[in-house]
Amino acid sequence: MDTKSPQQRHKNMAAIRSADTKPEMTVRRWLHSHGFRYRLNHRGLPGHPDIVLRKYRTCIFVNGCFWHGHEGCRYFRLPKTNVDFWRTKIERNRERDHRDYQALARLGWHTIVIWECSLKPASVRQRTLESLEQTLYHIFLADRQLPNRPSRTLQYPLHGEEDGTDEKLVAEP
Ligand SMILES: [Zn+2]
Repeated sequence: MDTKSPQQRHKNMAAIRSADTKPEMTVRRWLHSHGFRYRLNHRGLPGHPDIVLRKYRTCIFVNGCFWHGHEGCRYFRLPKTNVDFWRTKIERNRERDHRDYQALARLGWHTIVIWECSLKPASVRQRTLESLEQTLYHIFLADRQLPNRPSRTLQYPLHGEEDGTDEKLVAEP
């Protein structure tokens, strides 16, 4: 249900438009304006996820299409010179990403990858972020419907987190 006034919505949209052009910043601002709280660049987790939503047991990576080798993407074209160098480099990045995602899954974390190309133009970005919100709610509900999971589990640090404090949650304007 959308309970925002047109003014608020306009403000949100304006905030999104004027946000730091960095794709990660776009996602962070959007999450924050929608009430999600998170930590950044969690050093204690594989791959140092860009955004960590502990309550949702979810790590978000906002990936640049070139460096992370987004297959079939218009932003992922190997430079015409030193093709082998770039191919090897990007392939290594992709393998490392894959290892990190697997390691996170083993530790009980969900991983969501948001590609840079899914954040522009604005209409595409809006769809991406709305579907991110849906995915997070889905994860939240699904985690709580597991019959054998004690409801107090989340009061304790998750594996791979160096501590369980929520005080370090990042608040942004
Ligand atoms: Zn892409």
